Amino acid sequence: MHVKKGDLVKILAGRDKGKQGHIIRAIPKENRVVVEKVNLVKRHQRPSPAYPEGGIITKEAPIHVSNVMIICSSCKKPTRIAHKFLDNGKKVRACKHCGASLD
Ligand SMILES: [Zn+2]
Repeated sequence: MHVKKGDLVKILAGRDKGKQGHIIRAIPKENRVVVEKVNLVKRHQRPSPAYPEGGIITKEAPIHVSNVMIICSSCKKPTRIAHKFLDNGKKVRACKHCGASLD
């Protein structure tokens, strides 16, 4: 996947199109990510140790990675990922616009 936990991303499609948020969970197996405050769904929760009251809770639902674009921390633009190699041979993700490393 081109994004991972902690990345700031812009939402490209769906109900929350245009929103930005950090990835709080990545699910590589399904090519999905959970982004804070994006794609919120209401769940009916039975009382449990975590939710002693039960009732309706709002929770982020996973969205497909193709619907998000990483935001460059350097130029602040949503960007596609370029790959570059550091002097030590390590491969890092880089911004297509300004070339800044995203890792
Ligand atoms: Zn950039």
